[in-house]
Amino acid sequence: MTATMTAVVYTALDAFEVRQVPVPAPGLGELLIRVEAAGLCHTDLDILAGRYAAELPRIPGHEFAGTVVDADPALRSRIGERVAIDPLIACEACRNCLRGHPNLCTRGQAYGAERDGGFAEYAVVRSDNAFSAGTLDPGVAALAEPFACAVNALDRANPSPEAKVVIVGAGPMGMILSIAARGRGIEDLTIADRVPERLERASRFGATETVRIAHGLTDSLPERAFDLVIDATGRPEVVQEAVRLLADAGTLIPFGVCPPGSELVLDTFEVYRRQLCIVGSFSLNRGILAALDILRQSVYPLDELITTRFPLEQGGDALAAVGGSDTVKIQFDPMTRIATQ
Ligand SMILES: [Zn+2]
Ligand SMILES: [Zn+2]
Repeated sequence: MTATMTAVVYTALDAFEVRQVPVPAPGLGELLIRVEAAGLCHTDLDILAGRYAAELPRIPGHEFAGTVVDADPALRSRIGERVAIDPLIACEACRNCLRGHPNLCTRGQAYGAERDGGFAEYAVVRSDNAFSAGTLDPGVAALAEPFACAVNALDRANPSPEAKVVIVGAGPMGMILSIAARGRGIEDLTIADRVPERLERASRFGATETVRIAHGLTDSLPERAFDLVIDATGRPEVVQEAVRLLADAGTLIPFGVCPPGSELVLDTFEVYRRQLCIVGSFSLNRGILAALDILRQSVYPLDELITTRFPLEQGGDALAAVGGSDTVKIQFDPMTRIATQ
């Protein structure tokens, strides 16, 4: 009889179940991971709603860490290792891969989207996608994926340490971008949000100045003042206003995921005359090692970023909690069972 495990399964669009499924077996070049922490984010909601292409049924979860418990016989030396997962599998042969953009691979797949991911007790991943997390706490190690997304954004914009930076939106990615920017030597970092509690938290996660937004962005923030403006709200109207914050030769990263079809009105004369730059950043580009370095060297209370941990059995509650203003990062802890009250 095959062993079974508890997993969150997206069965169809807008439908999921927590159910028992067979424990997967590692094939050639693969590892079996005992999942110890798996983060949730908006992408998981987008997959469920059909806004992000994935094949269903599917076990979602692309931000996870755990311990290797079984492996392809050639990889048995990795058993016992704690690992953080890079969810992307690129073909390494298409034009995008060859130009250094494996995250844009035209034949790419991801654990949690085209392959089963980490919202389960166990997951199979390719050995190449599992990076040693050493002694990092599993919850912190599972932050490596979103941190690697922040690393990609900062690599794309490549701000100098003297840059004046503003992050608009102090949600989970705002905090992660903040820590990553400080880790890169940025010393002038403003974080803006509407919620005072989030700003209080931002001041403990790297912001050198916090600004409460009451009405429009430019009512509270100076125009033409920032060399790097990162939107972490994903709201098109905020991105539109954020353009006005750009200093000459400034760069805007619309990092938050706006709905497809969102438009931005630009004065192209101003883009020309002031040398403005709009830079996209999608997912992560092999940044897990850099992310693990940031996590290891962090002076911030990283465990406070994980505000809620759910057992897999409470999959619905966990998905419903994503994006709440009183939460930062929500994770599954598949090692925990619901206590019988
Ligand atoms: Zn994510
Ligand atoms: Zn490719």
